[in-house]
Amino acid sequence: MKCATYYSFPDLPYGYSDLEPYMSKEQLEIHYLKHHRSYVTGSNSIIDTICNARTNNSEIDQRSTLKNLSFNVGGHILHSLFWNNLAPKGKGGNIEGSILEKRIKDDFGTVERFKKEFSAAAANVEGSGWAALVLCPETNRLMIMQIEKHNTNIYPGCKIILVLDVFEHAYYLDYKNDRAKYIESFWNIVNWDEVDRRLGDSILS
Ligand code: MN
Repeated sequence: MKCATYYSFPDLPYGYSDLEPYMSKEQLEIHYLKHHRSYVTGSNSIIDTICNARTNNSEIDQRSTLKNLSFNVGGHILHSLFWNNLAPKGKGGNIEGSILEKRIKDDFGTVERFKKEFSAAAANVEGSGWAALVLCPETNRLMIMQIEKHNTNIYPGCKIILVLDVFEHAYYLDYKNDRAKYIESFWNIVNWDEVDRRLGDSILS
């Protein structure tokens, strides 16, 4: 039996201080090194537990194990997407003239309208979660997902183009409880080139 295929902790595509002043070195370090890493180690440890149970032919508590695995794997995948759709201010390209801009205008009317809706979705996540822009293949439309925790309210099969983490652990050191201010500052460090590239890959695939 092929036992575990492990998740790996990815490199950050920039330095810890590179997103300042919008995201501080301390905030990014803790978020990436402690929180993201814990989802990777958590995922791998649950996979080990499942694998050991198969080896020993013992029972697995399916409900709690799979719920926990979904939370950890979702957390790992979302954080990997998040780091890569951020860039130091001025290094993430422009939305103007991109395919992304055209598709956002087709589906939301204007880029401003899209940003307003995405910000509101992020601001209104109940408890911990994410706002995500996704391309849904059946309709070929862009939609916004409001993900609770790492794994609730997801449209299966829709490709994630852009995510924003609104767990308190993502912003509390920098913004305390002011989630709205954190969301506003996020727009300064979006990597539009990466978001446009993901959209292009989703349209072709
Ligand atoms: Mn996070």
